[in-house]
Amino acid sequence: MTRLHVDFILPCDPSMGVIHHGAIVFDKTILDLGDGGAMEARYPDATPVVAPKGSVALPGLVNPHVHLEFSANQGVLDFGAFVPWLQSVIAHREALQEAATSAVIEEAIASMLRTGTTAFGAISSFGLELDACVNTPARVVFFTELLGSRPDAVDILFNDFKQRLRGAYERENSRFKAALSIHSPYSTHPILAKNALDIARRENLIVSTHFMESKAERLWLDAGKGDFAGFFKGFSPHAAPLCSGLEYVRLFQGTRTLFTHGVHASFPELDAIGTQGGSITHCPVSNRLLGTGVLALDPVFERNIPLTLGTDGLSSNISLSLWDEMRSALFAHPDVPLNTLAKTLLHSATAQNAKALGLDAGVLESGKAADIIVMALSGATSANLPLHLVLHAQTPSHIFIEGSLVC
Ligand SMILES: [Zn+2]
Repeated sequence: MTRLHVDFILPCDPSMGVIHHGAIVFDKTILDLGDGGAMEARYPDATPVVAPKGSVALPGLVNPHVHLEFSANQGVLDFGAFVPWLQSVIAHREALQEAATSAVIEEAIASMLRTGTTAFGAISSFGLELDACVNTPARVVFFTELLGSRPDAVDILFNDFKQRLRGAYERENSRFKAALSIHSPYSTHPILAKNALDIARRENLIVSTHFMESKAERLWLDAGKGDFAGFFKGFSPHAAPLCSGLEYVRLFQGTRTLFTHGVHASFPELDAIGTQGGSITHCPVSNRLLGTGVLALDPVFERNIPLTLGTDGLSSNISLSLWDEMRSALFAHPDVPLNTLAKTLLHSATAQNAKALGLDAGVLESGKAADIIVMALSGATSANLPLHLVLHAQTPSHIFIEGSLVC
């Protein structure tokens, strides 16, 4: 049993309040927390860990959306507009896959851990990162992804998907959970999506999908026009949208789904996502680099849709640190009061992300997983602590996962 003493505890519950001179008592789960003196009196035999002055303990960060298989991208893909980027992904896919060696993927995971991400959702197109995700001390929700729009290939694609999903199931343990991803409304045939979502409902699996990331996607699904019209003509002269945006959202009824991006989602689509209990995963750096715009936060909040925050992959980012992502988000929404937004982002990066991934973590309270990070913030005071963390935090001094010190 460990008793961790810090100057500040930020439990990241909805109040985003702060406990001064506190201590957290835990083994694999959190047993108690509160005033440091009271915890010492109540648990005198627990092994004390005293963090340096100015330290803040908070839940480990949770990244709900990352593509580790594209971790070798550095200067290869075209940024600035969505469809040209997608074309560059297709053109360089094999080379990027080859370059994504075990060492590259392990370093990408290590970079997340080093910056305090203790759990992540890996979107897996091919299964290249499976071993690294099973072997990391971090918690992983492994989203086996389904993609493909050719009706004549539906059976082959679905069988391949089921095989990869089974491969993930076989590796499940206390920190590694299988889940599934439907790539997007423009790329995945609704019959395939429906079959996979039947599995998700039956097995109670968490689901992820890209949704309304770009203006091109909006134009294509609404009217069969825009950049995607030219893109799909390269595959078939008779290409047409597979379903409407709203039809696509409704396919996910009865599942726990993270809708990633949502920058161009319409109000009726957001209404449906809210009613169905879905969340929106905000990836502001990816959206900036692919020229897809900025997610409007008010329509998300007005519908009480949980806002989650992810980095996406290095295919559309330069960092897998959620601190970097929060800093970018802070500057992407100048209309939201600064301190309010910092609290919202930190709550998203911890409690909201963990809840969306179905993890019993992301909040420091009795009974939750002891996934805890300590950030040393010299000169910290309790005034506006979330903002100062978002502005200055880089790497934790301590990282505990399931109560064990991992670095
Ligand atoms: Zn993505």
